[in-house]
Amino acid sequence: MVQKRIRIMGRAFTILGTLSAIALAQAPQSQPFVTHQLKPNIFWIEGGGGNSTVIVGTNGVIVVDAKTTTAGGQELLDCIAKITAKPVTTVILTHSDGDHVNGLAAFPAGIKIIAQENNKKEQEAALAAGGRGAPPADHQPTQVITKEKETLTIEGEKLELFHWAPAHTSGDLIVYLPDQKIVATGDIIATSNPYPRIHDEKNGSTEGWIKTAKEMVALNADTFIPGHGNIQTRADIQKRIADAEARRAQIKELVAQGKSLDEVKAAVGDSDKLNYKSWTQICYEEMTRKTS
Ligand SMILES: [Zn+2]
Repeated sequence: MVQKRIRIMGRAFTILGTLSAIALAQAPQSQPFVTHQLKPNIFWIEGGGGNSTVIVGTNGVIVVDAKTTTAGGQELLDCIAKITAKPVTTVILTHSDGDHVNGLAAFPAGIKIIAQENNKKEQEAALAAGGRGAPPADHQPTQVITKEKETLTIEGEKLELFHWAPAHTSGDLIVYLPDQKIVATGDIIATSNPYPRIHDEKNGSTEGWIKTAKEMVALNADTFIPGHGNIQTRADIQKRIADAEARRAQIKELVAQGKSLDEVKAAVGDSDKLNYKSWTQICYEEMTRKTS
């Protein structure tokens, strides 16, 4: 008992130490990297862009999402090296956004990179367009997922990859670890905003988001690693779905009444100060889009 108490106190001191370290390290440009353990061989690492999931398998490591920059990708690899001496052999991408993909530039050559086929197309389009934020040309997906469900065993770990519909982007992949009851959601879930973010320029879809989130929450899982933010429970996800669906239904009614976007935003209370289109705006635009 005494021993236990000392251990708990020790942990409290460690947490305090970590917090002050975080405060010091909080440079304006990015959050610090923090490694969290979920199971003996499953971790998630925040900081430097989207969350990454790390699965330590028999002979190698599987990583889900790779941070924003080459330096961030390297810092992710450094964090993994503190967990295990095994090499990273496989990266799975949840979607094509740069804050989940571009850190791949730091990864070893010749690794397996798995992505949904539309993710690969989006990366190819971004490469062709060039400029800042283009994905690394020498780390393009080596294996594309074309089916709604793909079951794979990699490094002795059973993984189920799902793509039900275009949602956050046209090429989302949900990574499910059935034996561990863990889901890596990608940006289907990002806690920075209570409503989902949809990339209309990547052919994402509000209806597809609702389908995807509902299918995802129906998986036999109790831990959801979001694209951004802290671990979510099933109840957290269910609330997000209910909120998003309720707002979408409300917008549909207002659109039927002929309301403008500004009127709809005011009516639903959308005051999001975002540097991208809100859920309300995307719903509105989808519902009022002229089909030629
Ligand atoms: Zn994203």
